[in-house]
Amino acid sequence: MLPWFGLLLGLLAIPFAFFLGLKALIRARLGGYKHEFVRPDPSAPLTKEALRSVAVLGGGVAGLTAALTLARRGYPVTLYEKKAFLGGKLGSQREPVLAGQETWVSHGFHAFFPHYHSFRRLLDSVRICELESIDDYVICEKSGAMTRFRGVEPTPVLNLFGLLRRGLFSLKDAVSAPGRDLYGVFLEYEADATFRRYDSVSYAEFARRGRVPPRLKLAFNTFARAFFADEEKLSLAQLIKAFHFYYLSQDGGLLYEYPIRDYEAGLMRPIAEELESLGAEVRTLDPVREFSRTLEGFQVNGRPYGAVVVALDAPALGPLFLDAPGLPEETRRRIGSVRAGQRYVVWRIWIDKDIRESVPVFVITERERALDAVTAFHRFEVETKEDLKSGRADPKTRAVLELHCYAVPDDLVDAEIKPTLFGELLRRFPELEGASVLHEWYVVEQNFSAFHVGLEADRPTVETGVPGLYCAADWVKLPFPAMLLEAAAASGYLAANGILAEDGLRLEPIVTVPLKGLMAGMPAPKTRVELLGA
Ligand SMILES: Cc1cc2nc3c(=O)[nH]c(=O)nc-3n(C[C@H](O)[C@H](O)[C@H](O)COP(=O)(O)OP(=O)(O)OC[C@H]3O[C@@H](n4cnc5c(N)ncnc54)[C@H](O)[C@@H]3O)c2cc1C
Repeated sequence: MLPWFGLLLGLLAIPFAFFLGLKALIRARLGGYKHEFVRPDPSAPLTKEALRSVAVLGGGVAGLTAALTLARRGYPVTLYEKKAFLGGKLGSQREPVLAGQETWVSHGFHAFFPHYHSFRRLLDSVRICELESIDDYVICEKSGAMTRFRGVEPTPVLNLFGLLRRGLFSLKDAVSAPGRDLYGVFLEYEADATFRRYDSVSYAEFARRGRVPPRLKLAFNTFARAFFADEEKLSLAQLIKAFHFYYLSQDGGLLYEYPIRDYEAGLMRPIAEELESLGAEVRTLDPVREFSRTLEGFQVNGRPYGAVVVALDAPALGPLFLDAPGLPEETRRRIGSVRAGQRYVVWRIWIDKDIRESVPVFVITERERALDAVTAFHRFEVETKEDLKSGRADPKTRAVLELHCYAVPDDLVDAEIKPTLFGELLRRFPELEGASVLHEWYVVEQNFSAFHVGLEADRPTVETGVPGLYCAADWVKLPFPAMLLEAAAASGYLAANGILAEDGLRLEPIVTVPLKGLMAGMPAPKTRVELLGA
């Protein structure tokens, strides 16, 4: 009896051992999931006497990361921010909720992924609020069906079988033409080759030529939207990088964390307090109006500095840098030419009906024309809950929802945006039929960095070629794969490192995901070259 039982156990163990072996192989091939990009020399000094003054232009995540890092090392830092609050796209502002009552409203729900190593380092270094884990990554389809990603095996590449099991594509799609020749691009990420071959191709063109099956297209579309661009405009190379960065280079999975406090209370106030306690000058409501390079260093709004970190948003760069006195023509052109993408909308509504209980706090919606995501703030945010409990908000309020449109179609006129979003909300969540909007907070902006076709070759890097002048933002071309909040924080550390290195001081450590995909370096199949013309 016993030998049979042992044999059975042995047989059962084979697939399990095979699975573990495969996981180990993938990990080894990628060189592990954490790549030490900068390992500081512990013998280098942390600080020294008489450090030069630094101006940080822009108080978003990138600027704050650079400012905090340098202020902690003893640099006299001045931070210029045009708005009344810090945080940029991760900031919050005061908003009346009822006559005489105000609350903080964040500039959009944000997901903090586990592989955001630099951003996490920034958060861990300040006293921040608690983060909550989202228990499911959900896409709500036009039909109302929900595609859920909870339970997908997080190992890169093996997670593709999770998509297969959820019906996003079939084995036939993967092995028969043209998919067979095209989908490999997602496993082959390697910055130079990927951008050289595919930055001139739009994601829409790829989807058309590859006849991407509708449900897989839905998953790719949600990735594309996270970069604030319509499919026709988004560079295929950027999408390949995104897929590598978020899905095929880390084993944390798609589940992420989010702060349960408003960004001002939970993040920005502690950062501002620390900056001020370190003697940094935080100049909110002081936009940079003038920048030049001088013989001694730089001049910002008429004040001299020894070094500058440019961490502004895209629309601010052209007016300040295209004709900036003292800079080489190439530096002026590169920084000054950074472009903003399409318009986007964040619309928070206080309504008298609630969304059904089973809907997670954040849902990505398959877009009809404008609605990309819905967040139920009354379900998790401490301040919103307090507003409702304390009567700061209209007592008839049952839900506080935030509607996002990440890329407003160019032909959708401003007056049509709200009715379009609301109509789509009701079709996705019929339980809200008849709901009245009691209060609203609405922004249409066009300040997000463009990740459109053909922009990578001229994108500025952290180093500008001018000693003492560095760039930090999500629009910077980085030497490793990182995007959005992680790109902002990582570029902030890299910019600070540029200044520290010039002054002979110890660098900040930087950890990234693997630089290349599992199949990087493979020659592109001839049929793919023909199909994509690249
Ligand atoms: C609705 C929304 C949802 C998002 N969701 C996510 C998400 O879930 N996950 C994720 O990783 N990322 C997300 N992002 C992207 C993320 O917010 C950005 O990538 C990141 O915050 C960019 O930081 P930054 O410092 O590069 O730029 P910004 O935050 O744009 O900072 C630039 C700063 O410069 C200031 N400025 C502009 N002009 C001047 C001037 N003349 N003088 C002085 N200051 C000036 C601006 O006011 C701003 O504070 C989202 C963005 C939005 C809008």
